[in-house]
Amino acid sequence: MNLTENAIKVLKKRYLAKDENGNLLEDPEGMFRRVARTVASADKEYVSEEELKSIEQEFYDMMVNLDFLPNSPTLMNAGRPLGQLSACFVLPIEDTMEGIFETIKNAALIHKSGGGTGFSFSRLRPKGASVNSTGGVASGPVSFMKVFNAATEAVKQGGTRRGANMGILRVDHPDIVEFITCKKNNADITNFNISVGITEEFMNAVENNEYYNLVEPHTGKIVGKQNAREIFDLIVDMAWNNGEPGIIFLDRLNKDNVTPELGEIESTNPCGEQPLLPYEACNLGSINLSNMLKYVDGKPEVDFAKLRTTVWKAVHFLDNVIDVNKYPLPEIDKMTRGTRKIGLGVMGWADMLCKLNIPYNSQSSIDLAEKIMHFIQDESRKASMELAEKKGVFPYYDKSIYKNLGIRVRNATTTTIAPTGTLSIIAGVSSGIEPLFAISYIRNVMDNDELVEVNPVFKQVAKEEGFYSDELMRRIAKKGSIRGFDEIPEWIQDVFVTAHDISPDWHVRMQAAFQKYTDNAVSKTVNLRNEATRKDVADAFWLAYKTNCKGITIYRDGSRDLQVLNIGKVK
Ligand code: ADP
Repeated sequence: MNLTENAIKVLKKRYLAKDENGNLLEDPEGMFRRVARTVASADKEYVSEEELKSIEQEFYDMMVNLDFLPNSPTLMNAGRPLGQLSACFVLPIEDTMEGIFETIKNAALIHKSGGGTGFSFSRLRPKGASVNSTGGVASGPVSFMKVFNAATEAVKQGGTRRGANMGILRVDHPDIVEFITCKKNNADITNFNISVGITEEFMNAVENNEYYNLVEPHTGKIVGKQNAREIFDLIVDMAWNNGEPGIIFLDRLNKDNVTPELGEIESTNPCGEQPLLPYEACNLGSINLSNMLKYVDGKPEVDFAKLRTTVWKAVHFLDNVIDVNKYPLPEIDKMTRGTRKIGLGVMGWADMLCKLNIPYNSQSSIDLAEKIMHFIQDESRKASMELAEKKGVFPYYDKSIYKNLGIRVRNATTTTIAPTGTLSIIAGVSSGIEPLFAISYIRNVMDNDELVEVNPVFKQVAKEEGFYSDELMRRIAKKGSIRGFDEIPEWIQDVFVTAHDISPDWHVRMQAAFQKYTDNAVSKTVNLRNEATRKDVADAFWLAYKTNCKGITIYRDGSRDLQVLNIGKVK
């Protein structure tokens, strides 16, 4: 297998099966074989033994060639006792002490199995509201978020992953100001990403500079008013301060809710790409776009034939995962098998663009993004329709919009763009749809490990063009970007743009391009330079709103002490 050193390190540390003394029981090929066999076994009742073998081989080849990888829990747990294969969960939080602590317990079980959890705290009564049973007063959503946070800290993913949570509060909740500012200090509530649940009503009020109502969730009473612009500016200020909170457009999530009869979507998973109903889980997988090229007369172009077959196999794979998955709770089992949502996305997008000599911040790349994602969306839908013919539609089909449309699909959704934080390390490519973060840099992976990386596509081009030297790479690593390096041809400087060379609007436009053809949502961080102003942040938020994104997360370089990626540190 063609794995980078970093990939091997990551796999050994967390993914490969070990005995109780920590000795490895498998190599990477062995891991992919275990995963392929387990996932293929869902077809046992549908095909002959011979066909089953060839399905297993298809799955295996797709992973070993790094054309497609399923989300981390599938790689870690398939064919092993835990057997929990999904990355994304959403749990409801009821406004009762029993309900709150039941959810904390359930979240702990999910974290133990490597999954991430999202919650809306919007149903909890605000701070100071009375509690009938005790005659006391409620302590409010933020105080309970701290309890969830502490529980996550204690569980630490049973040795596989740290816990990850999303906390959401509706913008019309009376405690919204406390929520928006609850992570002002970098050291607080560290196991959560937080997002404000924005409504259309709120955005209209911001546009018209109006007040909007704050509503007590447990009584439905209007208990106050806020100036919408003041709240918007506060969100912007905090996001500028250290990247939190993000915002999600709740009404948009629900406009695209394909099973509205089953309930309202109130939260996403931790990184924001997967809106789900309460108790729903989803398994994700990503196609490595960097491998979806062919060379005609020495010139690279997108290999749509290969992309098509990869999409079909990936949909088959992810659909099978639903059947062989062991769910942590009976409620999750029922919901997840009921809607059969899968989330196929991409990684290696920036690498693909570099290979095609297309700058990320250009109209050509936006056009190509739409073309590719449109293609993936269409093909994944077709693949799901074919599966429905063979194996039936998803059980809650009658409660879905597809029934009226007369479209028979096996999966309520098929596409999601995940961050691919670890998957992209395993595949050795750029993550998700993000631009290159730096041409060379140090990456903090999994707790405190640091890894040095030089972008392999750049390395190759530098060698081909004859300007490669270790000394130059070291100088580049100090800066991250190759802008202004005289020894590097200008066209290469244009193509190998890094996140901070790209103005925020291109980041947002790229997110919007992929969102246009994605059922679920898109994980994207709009990276801003340290000098970026609050207005830059506000502009990015507005552009995300105007271009139909489902939410937005920004991060201003250096605004938080602990960064996942650091430019300018050379080991
Ligand atoms: P990976 O590359 O490991 O498959 P991603 O970075 O694509 O994961 O994240 C996908 C989703 O997986 C996240 O949105 C979240 O739901 C879940 N996830 C990621 N990291 C963690 C973690 N440390 N603990 C729990 N869940 C996680």
